Amino acid sequence: MSFADLGLMPELLQALEAVGYTTPTPIQRDAIPVVLAGRDLLAAAQTGTGKTAGFTLPMLQLLSSRHAMHPSTRHRPRALILTPTRELAAQVEESVSTYGKQLSLNSMVMFGGVGMQPQVTKLRGKVDILVATPGRLLDHVGQGTLDLGGIELFVLDEADRMLDMGFIRDIRRVLAILPKQRQNLLFSATFADEIRNLANSLLKDPATVEV
Ligand code: AMP
Repeated sequence: MSFADLGLMPELLQALEAVGYTTPTPIQRDAIPVVLAGRDLLAAAQTGTGKTAGFTLPMLQLLSSRHAMHPSTRHRPRALILTPTRELAAQVEESVSTYGKQLSLNSMVMFGGVGMQPQVTKLRGKVDILVATPGRLLDHVGQGTLDLGGIELFVLDEADRMLDMGFIRDIRRVLAILPKQRQNLLFSATFADEIRNLANSLLKDPATVEV
């Protein structure tokens, strides 16, 4: 089984070759075709399984191979990845930019504890994929410097850690302002009732992948 067998486009295959990945991990093998098919996904996967490439690769392909689902005269992000920590947000954005090097999609990472202004400036440009922690994301929405009305793909990464860190209300606030028509991916290492409840309200007829 190769990445080409999963239906990934040449630009992504070349990026994978450049980083030296030859074989998809189990989560990649199972998740990539599901995401490419446009389905919602509920994935049980720990850090270290290759889950990041499992959602970033098909996300890049979907966005680069179709027109915006919610077109606007203004540039606004088409994909949103929420993570519990700054460190994870930075890592995920790094993966997005590495794998997407040959595509004309721009990504941005956004978290708290640093100044708002540089983020505001960056948001005025072309940002297609936004990787963010919930608090700072909502700060921007609240002050009108971020429009989430163009989101067609939403990823909740490490959902169990997000809930442990008390982000459930923030997550619900974000969900309330996203466009109804969108694809949702939820990754979590564990599946307590609280995660199942969140998954039930977030995901439509999801494929389930466990590794
Ligand atoms: P993650 O679980 O997404 O944090 O990824 C864990 C580590 O595995 C990261 O350092 C990735 O760069 C690496 N990795 C992801 N996919 C592959 C693959 N198919 N082959 C080899 N290494 C990989």
